[in-house]
Amino acid sequence: MASIFTKIVSGEIPSYKVAENEEFYAFLDINPNAKGHTLVIPKKEENKLFDLSKEEYNRLMDFSYDVAKAIEKTIPCERIGMSVIGLEVPHVHVHLIPINEMDDMRFTRKAKLSNEEFVSLAEGIAANFA
Ligand code: AMP
Repeated sequence: MASIFTKIVSGEIPSYKVAENEEFYAFLDINPNAKGHTLVIPKKEENKLFDLSKEEYNRLMDFSYDVAKAIEKTIPCERIGMSVIGLEVPHVHVHLIPINEMDDMRFTRKAKLSNEEFVSLAEGIAANFA
């Protein structure tokens, strides 16, 4: 069965898209740790990060770098934190999170955003994506 993220790539499930190329897709996390929390995924469905080939892994990190730069330009923050977990959704995804303190990386304190805020954040990051 297709993963929820494969359904996002196909457009079957809506998302707040921030960037895309032929191989990867970046969109806002729907239950963000902080404003601008973004997920970067390979369009090809793969469960675990280290099941990607080294070449795919390197291209994913390269794309994530450009997305992180766009987030940094858009959201005032101390730095961008990066994490890969995948216990909830078995489709490789890199969390890019604008952080100001360690708690922003703990996945326990969540930001509540309106649809308008999600749209405006996604548009802002997309506009800064090189
Ligand atoms: P994990 O698999 O533990 O790395 O976490 C999966 C992440 O995907 C969580 O941060 C969720 O909030 C996020 N998530 C789940 N469904 C969606 C969705 N439909 N759109 C955006 N983010 C999602």
